[in-house]
Amino acid sequence: PSKQRLLVVANRLPVAAVRTGEDSWQLEISAGGLVSALLGVNEFETRWIGWAGVNVPDEVGQRSLTEALAEKRCIPVFLDEEVVHQYYNGYCNNILWPLFHYLGLPQEDRLATTRSFQSQFSAYKKANQLFADVVNEHYEEGDVVWCHDYHLMFLPKYLKKYNMQMKVGWFLHTPFPSSEIHRTLPSRSKLLRSVLAADLVGFHTYDYARHFVSACTRILGLEGTPEGVEDQGKLTRVAAFPIGIDSSRFIRALELPEVKDHIRELKERFAGRKVMLGVDRLDMIKGIPQKILAFEKFLEENPVWQDKVVLLQIAVPTRTDVPEYQKLTCQVHEIVGRINGRFGTLTAVPIHHLDRSLDFHALCALYAVTDVALVTSLRDGMNLVSYEFVACQAEKKGVLILSEFAGAAQSLGAGAILVNPWNITEVAASIGYALTMPADEREKRHQHNFMHITTHTSQEWAGTFVSELNDTIVEAQLRT
Ligand code: UDP
Repeated sequence: PSKQRLLVVANRLPVAAVRTGEDSWQLEISAGGLVSALLGVNEFETRWIGWAGVNVPDEVGQRSLTEALAEKRCIPVFLDEEVVHQYYNGYCNNILWPLFHYLGLPQEDRLATTRSFQSQFSAYKKANQLFADVVNEHYEEGDVVWCHDYHLMFLPKYLKKYNMQMKVGWFLHTPFPSSEIHRTLPSRSKLLRSVLAADLVGFHTYDYARHFVSACTRILGLEGTPEGVEDQGKLTRVAAFPIGIDSSRFIRALELPEVKDHIRELKERFAGRKVMLGVDRLDMIKGIPQKILAFEKFLEENPVWQDKVVLLQIAVPTRTDVPEYQKLTCQVHEIVGRINGRFGTLTAVPIHHLDRSLDFHALCALYAVTDVALVTSLRDGMNLVSYEFVACQAEKKGVLILSEFAGAAQSLGAGAILVNPWNITEVAASIGYALTMPADEREKRHQHNFMHITTHTSQEWAGTFVSELNDTIVEAQLRT
């Protein structure tokens, strides 16, 4: 029998498109978490639907890009610049992202923004409708449609409007906040109702799923059941599906000569010092200032460590045109400068802070030479960096200090040292504990985490979600 088709719909396609001529394009696959998650799923024939990240106003460009993308099994959704600005920068990144991470709604000129809020919300719906149009155009009977993330909360509803028979799943990659937070959103009910049009709704953790169900019961007055949410006899399944990584990709990378050379260089470079590592997008949710301040406190309280430990912080630039992110960059630079001035010597500084991304191999080498990884997210859907670090530590068996506010704390909690990133004293003490942890305890903790990340892979995550979606629909048919 032929494979079932899976239409994966996400804001961004897994390829970056660069225009090289009137009708020619250069495409580069970007290996994000979702891409590698689905690469390993062979039981479906997968198509991707999403925005290519470029503005293509002309017909020749649109036609040629569509053709080029078809070879990569990708189908583009074209969004004009104004829609991208209002939908993506505006409603998605300025409203939903901070709200879902407990940063609240934008505070400044709140009253004055009511109008721009409205226009951003309209653009959000409009963009979601454009996605629905493309999905509908390519949909064939029996396909499974899997919608991803906070960008596409209206998609399930719009798809079902086109076709009630369509099998629709929706997965959120961020936290879903407490209903008390979701309540503050002016469009709270419409968003919930639209998501509920899906057959299966998935989250990284049980807590996020529970928050979503409470939001539906409290805000919409619907009935929550152990299975999900019920509305006049119609059930929407709600469940937790913690994502994983393609751990073998990292383990294999460590065997490459290029990566081995890199590891050797790093070891020489930091000989005689313990290496601590942070890898984050430079986002307020990552708690980077909190992490650096805790490191400072540790150095302050433990002078013997001052020339024996180094913190490497990779801070990948993100949303650099947004003022708040620019402010955060300045703030971090200032703290790093102060600490390096305070504890540095003529030949060494305690913090190496990099404002850029690393390629995959360099990142693997860095993970492998690290003694202690520090993840201090204030909120984080899952946090894959913590998984990737564990994957690269088979030899070193280093320690993971992990924020209890990252989804990963639910799965790596027994192996990691869990901390409240707001408690600088606690984080500083944990750094000391991690740096001096006896080898047998490190080994035990590492084994626990390593076992988890190698058995709960991204491939398994995707496979489980889609088969659960298929089952949900069979069960629904049996009920009626
Ligand atoms: N990453 C990368 N280049 C870098 C640093 C990080 O590609 O220089 C990747 C990293 O491997 C991980 C992802 O970025 O897969 C970050 O995912 P995570 O879930 O930790 O956080 P997010 O950025 O999605 O909030």
